[in-house]
Formats: sequence, structure tokens, C-alpha cells
Amino acid sequence: MIKVQKFVNQLMSSNCFVVYDEETKKALVIDPGSEKSEREIAFIEEKQLIPDLIILTHEHTDHNWGVNSLKEKYPTLKLVCSELCDKLVKKSNRIFFSFYNDDSDYIYTIDAADILIKSDNDSIPWNGVDIQFTMTPGHSKASMCIDIDGMLFTGDTIMPFPRYLNRKDGNEEDWEKSVGLIETIYPKETIIYPGHGDPLKLGEWIENKNQY
Ligand SMILES: [Zn+2]
Repeated sequence: MIKVQKFVNQLMSSNCFVVYDEETKKALVIDPGSEKSEREIAFIEEKQLIPDLIILTHEHTDHNWGVNSLKEKYPTLKLVCSELCDKLVKKSNRIFFSFYNDDSDYIYTIDAADILIKSDNDSIPWNGVDIQFTMTPGHSKASMCIDIDGMLFTGDTIMPFPRYLNRKDGNEEDWEKSVGLIETIYPKETIIYPGHGDPLKLGEWIENKNQY
């Protein structure tokens, strides 16, 4: 049975999810946003899991700052993200960090992704299920949602907070379209695992989305 463990990233309170199967020991990590990934690694070690994938919902620092520490600990980990996300994570964003870090020269870079998601039709076999993707530009151009066995990891596209469009390349029309697509594809009972905040049912989010 596939389970999910949520971690709230530091310094920025985004969510990292370790998705795992206690029987097969397989694991993957979505949006590691804590620089050293200490709690995630401790969890993986304690449960004796074998992580093989890191998947990013999008390119923002609070969702990928921990990629390097995880890859250092588990060198065979493969990084998965959308094509555009791959282009963007390879550049570092100094300005963003100056808000959180005294060292304004601090930069970090991430190596190229190992598996690029190019369209909604792409899928990756993992632990007996097909991980499926939906491209959901809006919060940022490179955003996508990840479906693992009916659990939907939505990044910053769907969150129990007011809609947030990135200043650089966010787009309201795209966001409306992306959210409409998700609402068409997925039943209301689908559990959403958002990039920030607590998991909730898609139907619950639809009912409340204008009131956040
Ligand atoms: Zn974001």
C-alpha cells in the first residue's frame, strides 16, 4: 500500500512529500525544499526505504532546495520534472534568497533532470502504478500536477490559500484553464496534496476556492 509522509520545508513553509510502500520499500520524494533534507533522510533511513525518484511540481526554490542533499545521500536518485522546469532549475535565483539569507552571494545550482516530462501523455511506471502528469501552467509556466495511484500532488497550482501567480511568469488565464482541466479529469473525492498547507479533497477545495 502506497503511503504519504508530509514534511514542512525550512526555511520556507512549503510541503515535501515522501511517497513510499512499506512492503516493497520503494520511495520517492516530491518537492524537497529543505536545504539538507535532514528529516526526509532520517525518515527514509528509519523505514529502510529505497528512494529512486525525486519529482518537482515546479521550479521554485522552496520546492527544490533539497535536491542536491538527497542526490548526495542517494546517488542513484533520478530527478523528474517538466522540460521547462528543468531549464529553470539549472539557473539559480539570488534575489529570491536575499529575502531569507544574509549572504546575498549565496547561489546553488541543480544538475539537469534525468527524466523530462514533455506532455500530459507521459507516465512513469513506479511500484506497480503509472505515475501520470498534467501540465498546469498558471502559478508558473513550468508547473505540473502529479498523480500517483489517484493521489494528486498539485504544487502551488491548487492550495488551500488564495490563488498565487508568480510575478515573473504566472498567468491568470492559464491558471483558470489548468484548474478547469484538473476539475474535469479528477473526481471530487480525489485527495489533493498541495505545495503549501494541509491535504484536502478536490471537492472541498472547489467549494471553498473563492473564499480563501
Ligand atoms: Zn511556487
